Amino acid sequence: MGGTDDEENLWLACRLCNAFKGIQTHGQDPVTNRKIKLFNPRQQKWSRHFSWSEDGAYIVGITACGRATVVALQLNNAYAVTVRQAWVFAGWHPPQEE
Ligand SMILES: [Zn+2]
Repeated sequence: MGGTDDEENLWLACRLCNAFKGIQTHGQDPVTNRKIKLFNPRQQKWSRHFSWSEDGAYIVGITACGRATVVALQLNNAYAVTVRQAWVFAGWHPPQEE
């Protein structure tokens, strides 16, 4: 999107997440239907916008930004949920702290 490739403008993501994000910078909050800027991990705190479902398998958006990001980046896609369920079973997930 014309940004730099300086380290402060980058964020490590797996191939699947990177493909889901693509060039998107905004998403639609499914509650208000408003167009919202997506979560920026370089500038925002994860726990302010997201939480884990009780079973640890799903990311729950708790703000408009969080909800729009969950939808836009497909954070609860079948692969991610399946992997998280295995991590929960192994006792590795969800993380206790950010
Ligand atoms: Zn990923």
